[in-house]
Amino acid sequence: MLLELLVHGARPRSELADRLRLSRPTLSRVTKALVAQGLLVEGATELRSTTGRPSELLHVHGASHRFLGVKLTGDRLFAAVTDLTATVVDSVEQPLPNRDPDEVIAAITEVSAGFPGLTGLGVVLGGVVRAGRVVRAGFLDWTDVPLGPRLTETTGVPTAVDNDVQALTAAEHWFGAGAGTTSMVVVTIGAGVGTGLIVDGRLVEGSHGLPPRLGHILVDSTGPHCGYGHRGCAAGFLMTHVILRQLDGSPTYDEAVARVRAGNKQARDVFERSGYALGVLIGTAANFLDPQKILLTGEGLPLYELTTPTVHKGIEDTYEDDPTLIDLDVQPFDFGEWARSAAALAIRKTITGAA
Ligand SMILES: [Zn+2]
Repeated sequence: MLLELLVHGARPRSELADRLRLSRPTLSRVTKALVAQGLLVEGATELRSTTGRPSELLHVHGASHRFLGVKLTGDRLFAAVTDLTATVVDSVEQPLPNRDPDEVIAAITEVSAGFPGLTGLGVVLGGVVRAGRVVRAGFLDWTDVPLGPRLTETTGVPTAVDNDVQALTAAEHWFGAGAGTTSMVVVTIGAGVGTGLIVDGRLVEGSHGLPPRLGHILVDSTGPHCGYGHRGCAAGFLMTHVILRQLDGSPTYDEAVARVRAGNKQARDVFERSGYALGVLIGTAANFLDPQKILLTGEGLPLYELTTPTVHKGIEDTYEDDPTLIDLDVQPFDFGEWARSAAALAIRKTITGAA
């Protein structure tokens, strides 16, 4: 019931009873318990457009709990504090002292201590995570770090850890543009290329703790190496560092974007090829799942903005059906979204008990 209200917003009692197939007495009993725990508020009314009559709404009481979400990169820590509805109420960003697990754990513990009374802590990073343990995170040079259990101990706050793209996909499915969808593909572009899947209303979790990795589909066997043993896959075209290494003078991403805007031919060509690869990736995802929505986001979004017609050419060349069937939802991104999705992971764990 709490989840239903979190994902779909405030609802009248009658509608909740129908949707959850609960009898009125059961609904009343559950409501009472949730109100007693400070999780729900009742009493506000709205005029129902269908009946014209006022109906009592049940709301999630967001301020009843606080969650801390942390996103780790190779050199920085981004933190966001949210309420129970994943609304950000505070944020912190700081450099990591170094990549040593003990020092990173100490840094997170210190940030956590700055926000007393947390209900849950969530940490996300690029890498393979299984049951709260970081099996492997290349950019931090970590293998087998029991991050979740250790942080639970040092912070005293129940801690969930997950792959960052998986957490972002779940957060978008609960609290974002994908709320209420039963099938969705999330594509993130930036330092890495991430793909997340919602199928039958659930996050797809690989049987080996791996996230789905559509990014390695072949686009053009003469393309750049992705660094994972293949050449010309979509990830090879799309990862920021691979884009940049094809340009003279090793520019930053912002500088490369400025070059494209200024009409620099080399930069334009590299971006167009990458844009086409993005289209092939999106078209393949649409062929594969026929999802309700494909959500594109990430810090590499300027690529899409600069090469939109080429991205859509890539989609048309790949997708078997009418491309207007694809609901491509391009969501603006700022880096704090990762930290918010980490907090959403903690919320998910608190409510469902899942890691
Ligand atoms: Zn690859």
